[in-house]
Amino acid sequence: MNSPRRTSPLQIRRGLAIAATLLGGQLLAATPGPTAATPTPRPEDTEQWQPVPPTVTPGSTETAPPSDAIVLFDGTALGDWVAASDHTPARWPVHDGVFTVDKSLGNIETRREFRNYQLHLEWRVPPGIDGSGQARGNSGIFLASTGPEDQGYEVQILDSWQNSTYVNGQAASVYKQSPPLANATTPPGTWQRYDIVWTAPVFSKEGTLATPAHVTVFHNGVLVQDHFALKGETRYIGAPGYTAHGRAPIKLQSHHDPSAPISFRNIWVRELPD
Ligand code: MG
Repeated sequence: MNSPRRTSPLQIRRGLAIAATLLGGQLLAATPGPTAATPTPRPEDTEQWQPVPPTVTPGSTETAPPSDAIVLFDGTALGDWVAASDHTPARWPVHDGVFTVDKSLGNIETRREFRNYQLHLEWRVPPGIDGSGQARGNSGIFLASTGPEDQGYEVQILDSWQNSTYVNGQAASVYKQSPPLANATTPPGTWQRYDIVWTAPVFSKEGTLATPAHVTVFHNGVLVQDHFALKGETRYIGAPGYTAHGRAPIKLQSHHDPSAPISFRNIWVRELPD
């Protein structure tokens, strides 16, 4: 039986030397001289063909969920939501294809946890609401909930139709951090929509902040937060700050002001890559 032919180290070195000589010659031959023209750039040089983005079928209306959305409320039940305090099934009342805050029951949050996502949510302040400032239609969406009360990152929900308050606390503000770029609020009794892109903060293994959270918000189609870098979790009192966390639920606020409770409908989310 013939043994496989072995290549000696000397042969390898010779081979490499020959290859280097040939390659060097090619490189020299290919190197343009001082008078040679620079190759003309081609359109193809800057075309990217892979990977091909997934196909997503848009919703049939402006607000209908696209084909890859996780629907968090479709008008029938709150099965995807739990009480933030004890994770028992959410009991805010569902009626007429919407659900309404029950201020006696506290905040609710999603069963699922998320990191980065696109979110659509619709909310309505009841017609004839009274109160003023922060005490008129106050709720909020916490883009990552880090505790049962108001821990996390709140985009404010409030009746900001002809209702002044501190601007970093009006509707579509990142609460106490960033006023909206415009007040796109419509009157009480109308349905309003938020479309939000949330990029969660990144923490090191040691728990220090590596990258802050960012948020982009459209309110009724108007850009109101433009890739805002959050200073930390939003706080009613004191400076914002970060505490390391991972995936987190999305939470809706039951605010304790005495005004009539607001309602929600049509909530869906599309998870985005880390
Ligand atoms: Mg609020």
